[in-house]
Amino acid sequence: MSEAIKTDVLIIGAGPCGLFAVFELGLLDIKAHLIDILDKVGGQCAELYPEKPIYDIPGVPMVTGHGLTEQLMEQIKPFSPTFHLGEMVEKVEKIGDPGFRVTTDAGKVFECKVVVIAAGGGSFQPKRPPVPGIEAYEGTSVFYAVRKMEQFRDKHVVIVGGGDSALDWTLNLHPLAKRITLVHRRDDFRAAPHSVEQMRALVASGKMDLRIGQVTALEGSNGQLSAATIKGNDNAVETVPCEMMLPFFGLTMKLGPVAEWGIALEHNLVPVETSAFETSVPGIFAIGDINTYPGKIKLILCGFHEGALMAQKAHRYVYPEKRLVFQYTTSSSSLQKKLGVN
Ligand code: FAD
Repeated sequence: MSEAIKTDVLIIGAGPCGLFAVFELGLLDIKAHLIDILDKVGGQCAELYPEKPIYDIPGVPMVTGHGLTEQLMEQIKPFSPTFHLGEMVEKVEKIGDPGFRVTTDAGKVFECKVVVIAAGGGSFQPKRPPVPGIEAYEGTSVFYAVRKMEQFRDKHVVIVGGGDSALDWTLNLHPLAKRITLVHRRDDFRAAPHSVEQMRALVASGKMDLRIGQVTALEGSNGQLSAATIKGNDNAVETVPCEMMLPFFGLTMKLGPVAEWGIALEHNLVPVETSAFETSVPGIFAIGDINTYPGKIKLILCGFHEGALMAQKAHRYVYPEKRLVFQYTTSSSSLQKKLGVN
């Protein structure tokens, strides 16, 4: 076992809520390390919708998933958090009161006074459509998320699905792709009505194709797709030339090792009380999508609020002898000093 890394707080998950928690903790002089399975920070924002716009961050009329992640990283810079990316937290053990030992799958060991679980939906994985041999094309010409829109420029792209992701990417990629073919198993979409209208208008004006049916086979070599076979609901079979395919069949959220950390769970979520978002184990908090309580909404802004209240209670565990005085960043010169703006 490697020598333990000591920190005040260990945050499991570097999604938006884990990142903002660093800020709230930092204002209270609490140092944090963050661990994430992904090789980058930003959680769902970075992995699932980096280029999609978010419209409901307070005071920010529009920001992309990537943009929000960048802004959060800028905001927490004064607190110099340490990131451990590409590692999964496997074990959380109680070693003191308060005190925890946390171990990752890379064998790294942490000792901390407080654990903050900001693990979102756990490790999320896209559902693979039932197309024989699709694995051979994954990562080369079949993708389950759009990381870089440029990759799709001048390509014939087949998008499969009928939800928001399928419709949003149909509309977003349409201006730069050579041709888009949207395939859905029925002529009824679960996406936002406005997106469906826009897509239907593009089809009506001959600017893209819509096929009602299923992709049943793929053609290509060395991972490079050249065509997809589509079986229509009328049983007609058509071969559509294409270079890229984007199936959007939803995500499987796998809770992963959280289930083994001795915390009470409810439908694969971590129940918390709502004054500090603490779990059934004192000193272990859960914020963001991973937690549940009456009225919970899985929105980033809710996770930010949860992080602020969590930090107030974490202060009691980290500095039991210190009284916490509430201060505004606007008017407190001591907070401004910590932020490096005064
Ligand atoms: P996540 O972003 O899920 O991050 C959790 C992180 O924890 C992940 O990076 C994961 O790898 C890591 N992790 C999990 N288990 C472990 C482990 N054992 N060890 C190490 N790391 C672990 N919300 C809005 O407010 N507005 C929107 O407009 C909006 N649009 C969205 C659009 C889409 C397409 C999607 C999918 C979601 C959208 N959301 C939106 C929801 C928003 O993204 C989530 O509420 C938010 O990402 C939750 O943040 P989080 O930090 O709790 O979790």
